[in-house]
Amino acid sequence: MSLLSTEITRLLPMESVRENEPMARHTTLRVGGPARYFYPADDIDVLARVLPALSDAGVPYLFIGHGSNLLMSDRGFDGVVIQNRCKKTIISGETGAVHAECGASLGSLFMQTQRAGLAGLEWGIGIPGTVGGALVSNAGAYRGNIGPLVRQVRAFFEGTVSSFGPEWFGFSYRDSRLRNETPPRTVVLSAEMQLTPAADPGAVLTAAKLYQSERRTKQPFQPSAGSFFKNVQSRELAERFDDLAPALKEAGVVPTGFLSMKAGCMGWREGGAMVSEKHGNFLVNAGNATASDFRRLADRMKARILDAYGVTLEEEVLAVGDWRAEHVQMPKKIGTESNV
Ligand SMILES: Cc1cc2nc3c(=O)[nH]c(=O)nc-3n(C[C@H](O)[C@H](O)[C@H](O)COP(=O)(O)OP(=O)(O)OC[C@H]3O[C@@H](n4cnc5c(N)ncnc54)[C@H](O)[C@@H]3O)c2cc1C
Repeated sequence: MSLLSTEITRLLPMESVRENEPMARHTTLRVGGPARYFYPADDIDVLARVLPALSDAGVPYLFIGHGSNLLMSDRGFDGVVIQNRCKKTIISGETGAVHAECGASLGSLFMQTQRAGLAGLEWGIGIPGTVGGALVSNAGAYRGNIGPLVRQVRAFFEGTVSSFGPEWFGFSYRDSRLRNETPPRTVVLSAEMQLTPAADPGAVLTAAKLYQSERRTKQPFQPSAGSFFKNVQSRELAERFDDLAPALKEAGVVPTGFLSMKAGCMGWREGGAMVSEKHGNFLVNAGNATASDFRRLADRMKARILDAYGVTLEEEVLAVGDWRAEHVQMPKKIGTESNV
């Protein structure tokens, strides 16, 4: 028995742990090799005990939600992948106070809050991730982001479970301190958010439905991780395009989908990975793609945009797992065999 398996057996409820679980089953890109151990966690108190124990024992772990913002390597993860299924919520329609365990899905939380008569999460309806994943990347759409709604979180950070205010995250556009941890060890267990009691809850649902139908028109149906790259924030670049929408020009934002279309990237393929022909910032699994296919395609697109516009695209999708270069077997030179 290896040291890792001894520790896993000692620290995790083994009846729910799977071995060599293909991560392609747990990512929306449908790629990713095996997790040596896979632990779906559905009890937040157990989780709050397990995390310090794993950390103390030096067991490598990767904490995930719905895997909708992940590019997991083909080699997978040699440790334990913990999938967050803790999703209890408490919502007060009167005050707008929302408590959510971080495995709650953003879409479901929106529906629960709307039914309770609250506004503020309608932009989140089509985002297929958890509250935890949303906090890590300050997820948002249609001018709404999760950051401004956060009042407090409970997180496992530097060995203990503590409470933090929103300033601790350092939220900015699709970013927070948690995206920049290597290796990522902090886990957000639950969040307190403040929503607004709505004068007309029906109008909140109507707005969300509108966003949802806009997504259906603009986004491809094939497996993806949403926008692969962040949009480019540059007034200077925005000024260069006569056909960029005036509101974007004013904000100094150039959507990566727009650049991709201009640079002729749409429809590009590497193996089974493809730049969608419907949305130039969606890299989709067009069939049997590998994570390496996505890596090559993303790198090719970055090189093209850098060459055409002088900007380096930043990835919104997070690459996780083992990305060391493949061991390359050097071909034997003809004539060097001892029997020749
Ligand atoms: C079709 C589609 C549309 C999308 N549209 C949008 C959009 O409009 N706007 C937008 O912002 N995003 C969008 N996304 C991207 C994605 O859904 C969001 O980033 C989402 O918030 C990720 O949540 P997740 O639970 O899937 O996180 P995962 O992909 O599972 O994890 C993402 C990162 O967060 C970490 N993490 C997850 N949970 C926790 C936690 N509790 N504590 C600490 N770390 C944690 C993981 O380790 C990982 O580093 C879209 C994706 C798809 C597939």
